[in-house]
Amino acid sequence: MARRKSKIIKIGSQKIGGNFPILVQSMTNTPTSDIERTAKQIKELEKAGCEIIRVGVPDLKSVSGLREIKKRINIPLVADIHFSADLALEAINQGVDKLRINPGNFPKDRLKEIVKAAKKKKIPIRIGINSGSIEKDILGPEKRVTAEMMVKSAVRNIKLMEKLEFYNLVISLKAPDVLRTVKAYEMLAKKVNYPLHLGITEAGTEFSGTIKSAMGIGYLLLKGIGDTIRISLSADPVEEVKVGWEILKSLGLRERGVKIISCPTCARSEIDVLGLTRKVENLTQEIKKPLTVAIMGCPVNGLGEGREADLAIVGAGNNLALIMRDGKIIYRGKEKDILKEFKKELESHY
Ligand code: SF4
Repeated sequence: MARRKSKIIKIGSQKIGGNFPILVQSMTNTPTSDIERTAKQIKELEKAGCEIIRVGVPDLKSVSGLREIKKRINIPLVADIHFSADLALEAINQGVDKLRINPGNFPKDRLKEIVKAAKKKKIPIRIGINSGSIEKDILGPEKRVTAEMMVKSAVRNIKLMEKLEFYNLVISLKAPDVLRTVKAYEMLAKKVNYPLHLGITEAGTEFSGTIKSAMGIGYLLLKGIGDTIRISLSADPVEEVKVGWEILKSLGLRERGVKIISCPTCARSEIDVLGLTRKVENLTQEIKKPLTVAIMGCPVNGLGEGREADLAIVGAGNNLALIMRDGKIIYRGKEKDILKEFKKELESHY
């Protein structure tokens, strides 16, 4: 797929846009003022593969801990700030790697101060348009925010920044449903070349939010649109990161850790595919390098999938199962012993 040509922007140690990899972001859900808990959660997210982390900064107590949080983590730290220029300025002073604001929420003189400070520290600003907080004059008498309104708001906010000669920008345009979000991003992608951060906001629970995000973000990524992604779930943010990676891996855009192929099972199944898949998922979750593992109920499709995978377990009848490595059968034995043998293979090769 041809990637949209976006401007390259530096966020701490990471670069986004251009041909740089599409990065997985998340947001903490601990009180930012609680440095211990927030840093601990970020470390867990880093372990799961989070590459940029955003924290909400609602008050002075939260902003004053940012320097210490940054010291304890290894990925770029983004401060999410609404309305208070003092908080934005202090966040920059504390050394955050990026700000997320809506420029229109600040009086002009205060916005100028923020821009000046961000320029001095060379940190980018994300303009985060959200359908839930669109400007009143854009909404007018309408009840429902349209994609066109979101784009209008984005363009207005971008112009505000460009007038101040600030071009170190990332843009997002999130709505809680797929169609509006996709339409808004497609429209804006044609108008500006700033990198786009993708997300379906308030997407819902792990189940429905994952589906919505995969549909919306996946569609846009397939069209070459998007430079960073965040999956918003009403769940542990570690799950957001996992889903983000699965979306990128399933589109062949990034590689990381294990990719599991398992059959849905049918009347031909010779082994406990579901149980084995869960156990294999647990055994392989710490592996960082790309690895494809197939767990297949019988040889019908199992041998074919097994040939293409790095490792495979395939049901073989009469309570037997096979292990394949790099397309070759390397073990044939009882189903009850198969996990033990699989573990040995993992330990000696990955
Ligand atoms: Fe059924 Fe075998 Fe296909 Fe699994 S691999 S769905 S058990 S035919």
